[in-house]
Amino acid sequence: MSKTIIISNRLPVQLQISDGGLNAIPSVGGLATGMKSVHTGGESLWIGWSGLTMEEIPESLEKDIDEALAEHGCSKVRLSSKEVDGFYFGFSNRTIWPLFHYFLEYSEFELDFWNTYKAVNQKFADAILEKSGEDDTIWVHDYQLMLVPQMVKQKRPNTSIGFFLHIPFPSYEIFRTLPWREEVLEGLLGSDLIGFHTYDYERHFLSSVRRLLGLEVSFNDIYLEDRVIKVDSFPMGIDYNKFHEAAKASVSLKGVQRSDLQKKLDAHKESAPDTKLIVSIDRLDYSKGIAKRINAFEYFLNKYPEYKEKVRLIILAVPSRSNVPQYKLLKREIDELVGRINGELSTVNWTPIWYFYRSLSFESLIDLYVSSDIAWLTPLRDGMNLVAKEYIATRTEKTGVLILSEMAGSAYEMNEALLINPNNFEEQADTLKKAITMPKEEQIARNTFLQNRLGRYNVEVWANEFMNALRQKSLVG
Ligand code: UDP
Repeated sequence: MSKTIIISNRLPVQLQISDGGLNAIPSVGGLATGMKSVHTGGESLWIGWSGLTMEEIPESLEKDIDEALAEHGCSKVRLSSKEVDGFYFGFSNRTIWPLFHYFLEYSEFELDFWNTYKAVNQKFADAILEKSGEDDTIWVHDYQLMLVPQMVKQKRPNTSIGFFLHIPFPSYEIFRTLPWREEVLEGLLGSDLIGFHTYDYERHFLSSVRRLLGLEVSFNDIYLEDRVIKVDSFPMGIDYNKFHEAAKASVSLKGVQRSDLQKKLDAHKESAPDTKLIVSIDRLDYSKGIAKRINAFEYFLNKYPEYKEKVRLIILAVPSRSNVPQYKLLKREIDELVGRINGELSTVNWTPIWYFYRSLSFESLIDLYVSSDIAWLTPLRDGMNLVAKEYIATRTEKTGVLILSEMAGSAYEMNEALLINPNNFEEQADTLKKAITMPKEEQIARNTFLQNRLGRYNVEVWANEFMNALRQKSLVG
């Protein structure tokens, strides 16, 4: 029987090696959840890196690890720490990530990074060839593995291959600066179907294909020798019910049942019932515009001083890629900004910004969403931004206001949110005021639309639509 093979940089399982032995814990991230309907029983295999380098895995444990992963339908690609450095921290996160998020000045064009990226992509392709058959369907995920489709197609011309990019595809003028631009496009064109979050990313990709490779493009079909490659947009959703139900559970907890975070947030609300809580949640990444948001908050408090002591900004910054230099610098910048603004504006009763540099458990994350009157998300570029969708899903009473950057992929589907340009402080100050004073009926009306849409187009529907389009493609050729 034919199988579905899923390939991503990381496996949807966390490995923990301790004195007590080995633990393989399934991850709960968006992709893992979305793929549940695709990654089922014995009919699929997920190939990826385990998160532990070859140096970190004692040889005596290799077999146990393989068995533990097999129980979750997974198979690992072995990577050395040198490979992880060049492929993941290097080419993926110091070349492609900044470039595709329009941070041209951060993008490093290092031949060594590129060579390691190619070699590691070949390792993933070899793992696919080894573990799959001609009739299997292959779905490759994301910017770490853009060369894999072609590497597999060369050996298996009849195998159906899909690729989904989870980050933006930049405009031709940006993409063309990459020294290995043709190779990357050719790598992707090994696929039969290429998916993006938005129509704009799709359009940018088609334009690069036409202009850099001179290929014929008609609507969303690319003609390559004897093959036709389909390109389409599939905006990724969330597990709506999971967030909505968890929010209901969080709201219903009483007294001692309430978590420490809930108690702290409750105490805050009781001591200052008129104070609005504004939340922002992101990985600590320069693409998320966290420092700009803090500056814009200061601008707002200066423009509308009547809101001093009446609003509080909670920033949850999740540690990320902290061994890449730009991330270290950004961390320092944010620490300093928060310190300065709190130092200058705090009063005996009020600290304007609560800043947390950590990740939260799912339950605490829900508590934070539920307690916040406003979510303020200001990425300078973001492939999608799932936090925006998650916040809306947790509004059990349909109240709450989402302020969202128009540079996030999710803004395309969330027109009823208050959309802003994160570089425009004047607009953001006015939008914050509008959010703080928005009548309940208006909040409910906006969120009703948003919730209906998110509930319908959830992450499972996203995965199924992609797989159906890929199957359809292989039927019509
Ligand atoms: N998230 C998490 N732990 C936290 C805070 C956030 O797991 O402490 C999750 C959040 O629920 C969301 C994801 O991290 O699903 C962030 O996804 P998003 O698309 O917003 O941004 P990305 O980090 O993928 O760029």
